[in-house]
Parts: sequence; structure tokens; C-alpha cells
Amino acid sequence: MKQQAKTVGFKPGERNVFFHILTACNLSCSHCYINPREHGTETVPRQTLEKWLQLFHDSKKETNVIFLGGEPSMHSDLPHAIRYAKKLGYASVTVDTNGYLFHDFLKRVKPSDLDFLSFSLDGPNPDVNDPLRGKGVFAVCSDNLQAAVAAGFNVSLIYTVSRYNIRYLQDMLPLLSLWGVKRFFIQVIGIRGKTAMNGAEKWQLTPEEWLTEIPSAAAEAAAKGITVIYPKVFLEPDEKFECAGRVAENYFIFPNGRVYQCPLCEDYPVHSYRIKENRLVANTGFTETRFFSLDIPEGCVINKLLQPENLSYDAEGKPLYKISCCLLKQEIKGGKSEG
Ligand code: SF4
Ligand code: SF4
Repeated sequence: MKQQAKTVGFKPGERNVFFHILTACNLSCSHCYINPREHGTETVPRQTLEKWLQLFHDSKKETNVIFLGGEPSMHSDLPHAIRYAKKLGYASVTVDTNGYLFHDFLKRVKPSDLDFLSFSLDGPNPDVNDPLRGKGVFAVCSDNLQAAVAAGFNVSLIYTVSRYNIRYLQDMLPLLSLWGVKRFFIQVIGIRGKTAMNGAEKWQLTPEEWLTEIPSAAAEAAAKGITVIYPKVFLEPDEKFECAGRVAENYFIFPNGRVYQCPLCEDYPVHSYRIKENRLVANTGFTETRFFSLDIPEGCVINKLLQPENLSYDAEGKPLYKISCCLLKQEIKGGKSEG
């Protein structure tokens, strides 16, 4: 029997901290969502890393931290930040890397320090991946991924699906097993950063493309024993819409001190909070929080504002489906398929 995809609802009390410790990167991917005008160009200094990790840790709630950038391993204090987060009691610590693993990362961090090391690859070979992420990136990333598995790290792979690479997703699946990847994240391209500036229609999938390709590829990967996580995107008619900004605790922290609750808002100065003198200060005025309480038949308000191509209507102007919160995920636990 095939494993069923399960919607992973927002868990009450769970907190996720997405900590961009710098915005610098050695790559220049054509779909990069980092926007230096909004996110700054700073690197968070070592002492501030500690202070901000303290600020977002809450001993009464399960808090997960994900270190990202830019390329987080370009920060020589990343190993320190990982161990510091563990010492503070973060429930899980993850690093999202483009695969270059600077500063001898695999030698300076122990597999037991880290819950997951996530590599980003957007194609099963250099011909697909490298036009998106840069010349030679497939070779470096896939070599370092395999070195990390060999060293005993739990490795995930993130594949950001767009018009450019959706037809190669199936070819990625045999590599996951071959390389020993434990979790496979299928991401939907976000119309943020460079993609918002470079013609969103060239990147964005139609609902038909998403629904035809993604759930079946996810089921196939799960049948190979890999846990697959992918965004829900389209809600079933009987499913309730929930905005994570209202019912969950997610913090997207940038080196310039901006803190967003909704990743779709990151291109605009509407962040809910800012970190000032190492304290979290709620912004007043027009912030993303204004959108979280709006109920519209299309589901997510920000999606309607920024990505209206995702929506379709019937002859009476009623939306054909609701778009879920971009933070709502489907998960299929890895297990061998019997049929
Ligand atoms: S690796 Fe990430 S941060 Fe760097 S350019 Fe690519 S998408 Fe942007
Ligand atoms: S993506 Fe939409 S539903 Fe999710 S937090 Fe942002 S505004 Fe709310």
C-alpha cells in the first residue's frame, strides 16, 4: 500500500526561528530570494548571534532553529552558533547550505551537533542545475553532500521547483537513494527577490503542473524510504484555511534586525518586529500583521496580492480553490511501498 500524504498542521506552541546570519553568498542563483535592499548586507557578529539566539529561545516551548543566509557556512562562527543553540536547548538545529561548506564545516561540526544539514540542488545533473545555480555547482554540492552522509550527518535535499526544472524532478529520485538523503523537501518557487524582478510568469507553475507532478513524485520518493515534505498550496474544499501568522510562531530574522512572520512579505518593509539593542520590539503602523486577520474566499491574502496568477475563478467569480498558507506542509514518511 502506498503511504498517504499527511497535512502537517501548525502545532500549538511550536516555534520556528529562521535565522539568516548573513546575506552574503558565493553564488548568484537566478531565483535567489535574498533582497539586500530589504535584508541588508551585514553579517551578524558572534556575540550578537548568541544574544539573538537567547532572545528567541523559550524554555517553555519547543523551538527549532534553521540557520540560513546567504550561505551560512561563509560565517566562520556558524559552528559556534550551532553548538550555542544546542546548549540553550533548541529542540532542533538545522543548517541550509548551497553545498560549498566553507571554513572546513564538516571537520568543525560533529554530526551530533546538528539535527539536519540541508543541501539545495535544483536539478539531477549539471545541465539542469548549473544554469540556475551557477557553473560547477552541481559537482561541488553533490560531492559535499555525499561527504556529509559519509561523515554521519543527517542530510536533506531541497529542490526548488519551477517551470525550468519541473520535468527533471523524477530524475532526482534515484540520486536521493544512491546518496543516502533522508529527507526531501520539494519547494515551490516563491515570487520574491530576483524571481519577482525577472518575470514571475517565466518561473511560476500552473496549478495543473503542480498537482500532476508533485504529489506523485513525492509518493515515489517516499516509497524509496525517504521522508518527503512539500507545500500544500491548494486546499481541498473541506479543508480549513489557517494563516500561520495567526496560529503559529515563525520568525524570519535578517541581519539588519528585521523580523518577519510571513516569508511572502520579505520584499517589503512591513516586518512585524525589529531587534533593537538585542530586544524584540513590535512595529507599529502598517505591518504584515494587518493581513493575517483578513478572511477572503481565496485563502492567503498575500498570495492574492503578490501571486494572483495562482488563482482561478468560476463563471460567477467564485474561486475554484483556496490557496493555503505557504508554511503549511504535506509530509509523507519514508517507507517501502508494497504496491
Ligand atoms: S545559494 Fe541561496 S543565498 Fe546564495 S545565491 Fe543561491 S539562492 Fe541566493
Ligand atoms: S503566507 Fe499567507 S497565510 Fe501564510 S503567514 Fe503569510 S499571509 Fe499568512
